[in-house]
Amino acid sequence: MASRGSTESAPGDDRRVREIERRLKKAHGQPRHFNPADPLDDLIFLVLSRMTQEIKYVRTYSRLRGSLSTWYEVRDAPPDELEALIHEAGLAPTKAVQIQAILADIEAREGALSLHRLRSMADGEVERYLTSLPGVARKTALCVMLYALGRQVLPVDTHVWRVAQRLGLAPAGEWSEGRGRTLEAAVPRELRGSLHVTMIAHGREVCRARAPSCESCTLADLCPAAGANP
Ligand code: SF4
Repeated sequence: MASRGSTESAPGDDRRVREIERRLKKAHGQPRHFNPADPLDDLIFLVLSRMTQEIKYVRTYSRLRGSLSTWYEVRDAPPDELEALIHEAGLAPTKAVQIQAILADIEAREGALSLHRLRSMADGEVERYLTSLPGVARKTALCVMLYALGRQVLPVDTHVWRVAQRLGLAPAGEWSEGRGRTLEAAVPRELRGSLHVTMIAHGREVCRARAPSCESCTLADLCPAAGANP
């Protein structure tokens, strides 16, 4: 068995989690949700994604890269120019300041605007590095680790938390970093990435916050909350 986190689940729980992952993968595939493959690209993409809709931050990232093609140009851009370029993603003044602060910090540490050195670091070291950058939360760090570095981690966003709670995989209560860690530890390492990307898709398309489509859900017979959220 693969090594696990601090909260072990029983073998029966493992079988159930594996069946959930298998069905979600069959239903949704393995979507990347537009995340870039380069760790620095992905980090800035994730900063833009905060508190806004996917269509808006995907378009904003594309516009930013089309207008300022290197991260050096973004770092040196006049703040009002950068704000105008990322306006559609919302919170533009805050995000512009954060992006330029992150880029300045990375260049000071790495001597270049690159996070390629993270590829050779252990998981804990990568997480500490990323969360020490200006305004970078653990969820963002885990997303970079998953999408750009291929690490076996489970970032928990609002969709993942809601679907996991309805399925009885997550502890009761509102999301907190501690409860997110408990959920991650209960999921076998090799399933974490797959469950993250498929639970996001499932939460958006089927297991919505209001009026989830339980009648057509592939997990209905495994779900204690089936039909309970009209
Ligand atoms: S059965 Fe309903 S509540 Fe359960 S995972 Fe499916 S859509 Fe969500």
